[in-house]
This record gives sequence, structure tokens and C-alpha cells, in this order.
Amino acid sequence: MSDSPPSASPDADIIVVGAGLVGVTSALALARQGHQVLVLDKQEPGRGASYGNAGHMATEQVFPIADASILTSLPGMLMDPMGPLRLDWKYLPRALPWLARLVLNLRPTPFRQSVAGIRALNERSLAAWQRLLASVDGSHLLKADGSLLVYEKPESHARLEALESRMREQQVPVELWDREAIQRAAPQLSDALLGGLFFPATGHVLDPWRVVTTLVEAARRQGVRFEQETVQSTRLTAKGVAVTTNAGEREAGQVLIACGAHSAALTAQLTGKRVPLDTERGYHLMLPREHERLPFAVTSLERRFIMTPMEIGLRLAGTVEFAGLEAPPNMGRAWQLHRLSRGLFKTDLDAGDATPWMGFRPSLPDSLPIIDRVCDGRVLLAFGHHHLGLTQAAITAELIADLAAAADSGAGPSSTRDLPPLAPYRLARFG
Ligand SMILES: Cc1cc2nc3c(=O)[nH]c(=O)nc-3n(C[C@H](O)[C@H](O)[C@H](O)COP(=O)(O)OP(=O)(O)OC[C@H]3O[C@@H](n4cnc5c(N)ncnc54)[C@H](O)[C@@H]3O)c2cc1C
Repeated sequence: MSDSPPSASPDADIIVVGAGLVGVTSALALARQGHQVLVLDKQEPGRGASYGNAGHMATEQVFPIADASILTSLPGMLMDPMGPLRLDWKYLPRALPWLARLVLNLRPTPFRQSVAGIRALNERSLAAWQRLLASVDGSHLLKADGSLLVYEKPESHARLEALESRMREQQVPVELWDREAIQRAAPQLSDALLGGLFFPATGHVLDPWRVVTTLVEAARRQGVRFEQETVQSTRLTAKGVAVTTNAGEREAGQVLIACGAHSAALTAQLTGKRVPLDTERGYHLMLPREHERLPFAVTSLERRFIMTPMEIGLRLAGTVEFAGLEAPPNMGRAWQLHRLSRGLFKTDLDAGDATPWMGFRPSLPDSLPIIDRVCDGRVLLAFGHHHLGLTQAAITAELIADLAAAADSGAGPSSTRDLPPLAPYRLARFG
């Protein structure tokens, strides 16, 4: 946090740490404002959580990631290594404070605040993506054709109806579909499925990684530089920030911390605040031989995973595992997704040449990201988008660009665009 003398020539106006969906969309927006932008990532761009997510523009998911049932699920989470929710014994002491905060956020007032904050982003997310992709000739990468949540057990019907009514209360567009409606829209799904909720204001991308690489190319054309470097530390300087990487020291007027689940340490160095950022590890199994099975993404209510049709095959994705950033992946959890899919289609899915993957969702216990400008405008923050980082990346970039423009002019956020108020996403909510 200490200031030090500035060096002669900065490397950029703004250094973005992290080339995931959030960092890349923001870098492009900042470059379009005329800033010189340098993006640093320890990997090739887009190889973090943004690579393997389920590709679902999940604007319907306006409720926090957990509800009170997480308390009763805790023993099962510890015992069952293949369950949809998994807590590694070894990680229990580190996970407990985070889980405790998650539970506190289930009280009525914070819960309502979380829902309002998620909604304010989600309601603007699809339009923000459509604007962004149109601007890079990438509109074809997003199919805004809706998504479906199916159920198969009669006893789940009441749960589905309760969810439908809670969603309607939040103005989420939703239709109740019966078995026939499902068969008409997705005839390959099993006719044992009893019904579901269709969300018309959602969609999916053809391949999240292709979305990132398309944006990286557009950002490069806009003058953004990308370097593969690991950021080891950051500190404020009189003129801005200094960023130490494995390749040396870099200087800029501002830094944007957008390195997903790895953002807490750098944020603490710059701001002195320890944010309760943890990771909910998730898995996918990519089935490259499966095309044309589904017209849109389909989630199973009981089996708790999603299947998304992509140009590279069918992606089965989901599960939540609390095991931190260091433990090796348990790819058995990815293969489990194929077993879970059995019975959802009239004929089983072909898992030939399938590839498993694990990624780190960056999660804060109130299910809201941090989007902010702090330290006299020298530090921008955009991380913690948990299960919704694809959905919310484009609107987050618009917010970040608006904050940077305000830093340039010395005024408050300035956009004439319909942006959500920033208050729910501020760093200061963590004391
Ligand atoms: C299985 C799964 C399914 C998901 N499904 C969906 C979905 O359907 N819809 C949705 O909206 N969201 C979904 N998500 C969530 C979404 O993928 C994430 O919220 C989003 O990708 C986060 O983007 P990000 O840019 O913040 O982080 P990331 O994509 O993780 O990018 C962070 C980058 O920072 C880099 N980095 C980290 N530390 C350093 C360092 N010290 N120096 C330099 N670089 C560093 C990393 O290499 C990485 O490239 C899913 C996630 C998972 C795991």
C-alpha cells in the first residue's frame, strides 16, 4: 500500500491483470475510450474459468448461489466425493468462515440486496453482449434462443412451481412447459421428463473460448497489448501503480484487477482490504461427437447440471466443489456428468473422445461481484462473478469503462447509458 517515486515512462495508461472474459471485455472497452491498455495474464488469454464454462447466458439466475438448504447439505457435501456439492475435508477449516458468511447473507435483508444486485446486472446483460458482439462482427457467437429447466420426478413439481412464482416476482420472463411442449422443442429429450420452466430471455454462446479469442483479436486491433506474465505483486505509486511480474516491473496510471478467483491477494496489497473471495470449483465434460441434440441449454432440476449445445459438441457442466485453488482436480467429477446424463435423452450420449475440465469460479459470499474504482482512481476492480461471469462480463466492462472515464474527468460515473447503480458492487461493503 505504500507510495514510492514514479519512474520515467509508464508501460500503459491502464494495466489489466487477467485475460479472462472480464479482463478482456474491459480492456477492449477501455481501449475504445482512447486508453493505452496492457493486459497481463500468466496463461494464454481465456484459459481460466472463462475457457470452460457452460456458455449459458444465465440472466434468469437472479437468486444467490445458495439457500438455507446448504446447511442441511453440509454432511453430504463432506461425505460424497461425487455429489453435486462437495466440500473437501482438508479444505473445511478454510471454507468454514466463507460458508458462515454465505449463511449470514441468507437473512432477509442481505438476501434481498443480493437479488436486487444480481438482477440489476442480469437484466442488462444480454443487451450488453449483443452490443459488444455486434461491434466485433461476432453476433453469430451468441444464440439468444432461451434455455430450459426440466424435472422428472412428480414430487419436484411443487418445487418447480414455487421457483416459477419466485421468478415471476422478480420479473424474470418464464413459461411453464409440459411434457408435450418439451417434446415439440427438443424431441431428443426423454419423454419421461414431466415438464419444466422455459426462460425466453436467456441464451448460450457457441464456444466461450471462441468468444474470448474473438474479443482478444478485436482488442489487439484497437491497440491493446497482451503479455504472458505472472503478476507477483502490485503497489501504489505517486503517479499510479507499479506491477511486479516474473519479467520485471511495469508502471501505469491505473490497474484493473480482473484475475478472477486469484484477485484477493493483489486487491489486499493495493487497498489493504481482505475480501472474502473463495472459489467454487466446477467441471465440464465436452462431448465432441454430440451435435444437434439440443436447440438450447437444458438444466436438470434434480440432477443439478447443465447441457449446452456448442459448435464443438455438447458440453455437460456444473457441480460445485470447495477445495481451494491448490488441490488437483478430481476429474472423476467431470466424468460423473456423463453418468448423470443417462436417462435424460431417448438414446444415451456418446462420450467418445470426451475431454474433462475443471475451472475456478470466483465467488464472494453475497453472490455479487466487486466492480469499483478505489485508491483515488488508481485501482479498478472487476472480479467475483461466481456462476455468472460469462453472463455479466459485457455489462461489467461497460461499468468499468464508465468508472475509468470518471477517473479521467475527475467526476462521478458519467455514462448516459442505462447502467446499474454501483452501490451493491462496491468494495466498501466488506468493511
Ligand atoms: C464449470 C463452470 C461452468 C460455468 N458456467 C457458467 C455459465 O454457464 N454462465 C456464466 O455466466 N458463468 C459460468 N461460469 C462462471 C464463469 O466462467 C466465471 O465467472 C468467469 O469465467 C470469470 O471470468 P474472469 O475473467 O473473472 O476469470 P477467469 O476467466 O478465471 O480469468 C482470470 C485470469 O486471470 C489470470 N491470472 C490469475 N492470477 C494471475 C496472476 N497472478 N498474474 C497474471 N494472470 C493471472 C488467469 O490465468 C486467468 O486467465 C462457470 C464456471 C465454471 C467453472
